Amino acid sequence: KLPTDCPPDVAQLGRSSWTLLHSITAQYPENPSPEKQSETRTFMQTFAKLYPCWHCAGDFQEWMKNGNAPRVSSRDEFGRWMCEAHNAVNVKLGKKEFDCGRWEERWRTGWKDGRCDF
Ligand code: FAD
Repeated sequence: KLPTDCPPDVAQLGRSSWTLLHSITAQYPENPSPEKQSETRTFMQTFAKLYPCWHCAGDFQEWMKNGNAPRVSSRDEFGRWMCEAHNAVNVKLGKKEFDCGRWEERWRTGWKDGRCDF
């Protein structure tokens, strides 16, 4: 594991990026305006092109093209879509899939067992 003050490797970049992406879904409106939905679609397409791990970016673009265009009609839709995107990478890397019914506990409200309460 690299110290955090060195240039990030693919794993460190990934963890930081998922934190940003899931946090964006956590703050997304429950009823987004058409303009917000359009900006969000554009953001995800641009993100997938600029993501600074080129083979990751290529696979992510392919995944979106293959019937997985961003679903941005509500916070829950977008949060679940992001969870599915992350799970597609988890599967590719041989990691466990995350239960997308719990995306909001992980990224917005905190776990129901109180482990995020301080
Ligand atoms: P991460 O996968 O980074 O997850 C961080 C935390 O998110 C976890 O601890 C868990 O609490 C939570 N979490 C896990 N799964 C989900 C989910 N489905 N929904 C919500 N929360 C979840 N790495 C590669 O080696 N090759 C690639 O091709 C590749 N492609 C990537 C594409 C994108 C768009 C991004 C953002 C990252 C990619 N990565 C890739 C990085 C990879 O996904 C991981 O971030 C990295 O391997 C570090 O994994 P980690 O086990 O520390 O946890």
